[in-house]
Amino acid sequence: MIPSIKLNIQIRKCLIEEHSMKQTAILKVNGEKPEKDKIRAAARIIRKGGLVAFPTETVYGLGADALNPEAVRRIYAAKNRPPDNPIIVHISNKKDVYRLSNEVPRNADKLMNLWPGPLTLILKASSIVPKETTGGLDTVAIRMPNHKVALALIQESAVPIAAPSANLAGRPSPTTAEHVRQDLEGRIDMILDAGPTEIGVESTVVDLTSKPPQVLRPGGLPFEELRRILKDVKLHPSVIADKKLRLDRAPSPGMKHRHYSPKAQLILVEGDVEALIDKIQELVDRYNEKGKRVGVLATDETRRSYRADVIKSLGSRDSPTCLAKNLFKLLREFDEEKVDVIIAEGVPLKHLGLAIMNRLRKASGFNIVKAS
Ligand code: AMP
Ligand code: MG
Repeated sequence: MIPSIKLNIQIRKCLIEEHSMKQTAILKVNGEKPEKDKIRAAARIIRKGGLVAFPTETVYGLGADALNPEAVRRIYAAKNRPPDNPIIVHISNKKDVYRLSNEVPRNADKLMNLWPGPLTLILKASSIVPKETTGGLDTVAIRMPNHKVALALIQESAVPIAAPSANLAGRPSPTTAEHVRQDLEGRIDMILDAGPTEIGVESTVVDLTSKPPQVLRPGGLPFEELRRILKDVKLHPSVIADKKLRLDRAPSPGMKHRHYSPKAQLILVEGDVEALIDKIQELVDRYNEKGKRVGVLATDETRRSYRADVIKSLGSRDSPTCLAKNLFKLLREFDEEKVDVIIAEGVPLKHLGLAIMNRLRKASGFNIVKAS
């Protein structure tokens, strides 16, 4: 049997077996000075093969011992994550890179100087990394998160921690412990709550096994900054695609799956600000006429231009960091408002705008309207 089929069968079996509800402990932790007893309690769970959700600077992660195949299978089960979608391994010490990979290229050193931070490196995996963690690939994704709670937990656990975003697969990523609770209470052992995350979108993923290196997912580290350090780095075509590409052989399997989606249908409108406003209002009116409840995901500069059932602003168009921070939170809020349709404004593809647009395009299922 080929390994990925065997892996799929194992994970499905695990999904069926693990239907029992767990008691999820929720602990408030000081984000600046994590309390030792709380970190110890969380680390004990990790070491026993359990699941702990914890804050990072990007989004909340759902952690398990990255070297324990059974523990990692529990992540897939808790999230309903497709078994071929590999998981990022979080470390607290750069030395661990050389345990997780025996082939670390020279350009990795320069990039590791950006750690701790929102940058994930893909390297050839060493034999200690289980197939469950790599989704059956021969590569491993590694990052050092810039959050005191995350770093303390990894250190105290004394193992690398595999952690995807702590949401149900397909849903918007969690930027607060409450988002994690909504999706995963009863399915995981513990949630460490240190308040809202700083960046709000996931890490930038760079594949260093391809020549030239490629960004597989734009994220918290802007492409412009990455290119200053790695001159020949390219964006994978799917990163900026405004149509669904055929990705049967995606370099990052996560690219194939439905992602970041609120329950409502999301339509993304792209173009200049003036044209955007007219097009969005036209769409709102059209859906209202059909009896639909419509929300607009706007910005501070435009929010007063609309008439709609619910209007929410991501922040000022001058501050992509602010837009990124609010993105997933507002997508979840629209679900609470029970809108049928969300019409979202596109933003320029620069700085964190690239990550924002990547998430919005995917959340829309590439239902994109060009305004002109
Ligand atoms: P998340 O589950 O939100 O943390 O997303 C992790 C992302 O990293 C997904 O898009 C994965 O497909 C990608 N990823 C993790 N490990 C690898 C790997 N070994 N090769 C390619 N992409 C990876
Ligand atoms: Mg995710």
